[in-house]
Amino acid sequence: AVNAVNVHKFFGRTHVLKGIDMEVAPSEVVCLIGPSGSGKTTFLRCINQLEEIDGGRIWVNGDLMGYYEKNGRLHVLDDAAKARQRRPIGMVFQRFNLFPHMTAVQNIIEAPTQVLGVSKADATSEAMNLLDQVGLADRAENYPSQLSGGQQQRVAIARALAMHPKLMLFDEPTSALDPELVGDVLKVMRDLAEEGMTMVVVTHEMAFARDVADRVVFMDAGKVVEEGTPDQVINHPSQERTQQFLSRMV
Ligand code: ATP
Repeated sequence: AVNAVNVHKFFGRTHVLKGIDMEVAPSEVVCLIGPSGSGKTTFLRCINQLEEIDGGRIWVNGDLMGYYEKNGRLHVLDDAAKARQRRPIGMVFQRFNLFPHMTAVQNIIEAPTQVLGVSKADATSEAMNLLDQVGLADRAENYPSQLSGGQQQRVAIARALAMHPKLMLFDEPTSALDPELVGDVLKVMRDLAEEGMTMVVVTHEMAFARDVADRVVFMDAGKVVEEGTPDQVINHPSQERTQQFLSRMV
């Protein structure tokens, strides 16, 4: 679960996140939509501490991200402690970011063996199950360059799942794909949602948001403008900015 309170982020003098509040309940799927530059990606990266926030607080599964409390005061966590906080959070990026010199199965077992100390045999057998789950059981020995973009994204999802995440963050995972490859990736995400994974998904796929999201959040210019069920936000938006954005999408 995620609880973000009054999150601010600056890049230089640009105020990119202007007080974002967002709660994501366990097993909830929240789709973040909004125009380019509205801060969706930045917010996702803040949840995962890939960006430091300049104001506000973010809790993930009850952990205050980036800080610990001692004698009633907050102190910044060191990098190792931040990495530990990040562990139960899986992230899939827009661009395929598999390790290019490793096969699909090697990509998947890397973190469990190196970070969690799982044996290579156990990690490999789990990796094979995960590859099967994403429809790529026959691609275990392929290198990323031998896989399509959609297959690479599915391996990236399997790689994230190998760390047994409690939260999955997706940053426009299909926007760099050829249209015919999008469906397979969305199907894997839909299956995950149905299994009860907690997910925050930045997406331009309105059909996916409509079908899979429990809640849709529309962001513009660093603020949450409107949120609600997919039916409320996508079919019956109450804010003019949401209406304008959606009318440009079709
Ligand atoms: P898109 O749909 O295009 O990905 P977005 O809503 O995800 O857009 P962000 O990528 O979060 O938007 O960007 C928000 C703003 O922050 C933009 O103006 C962007 O140029 C700026 N920005 C993002 N990352 C950086 C950075 N590392 N340094 C400086 N400015 C940045």
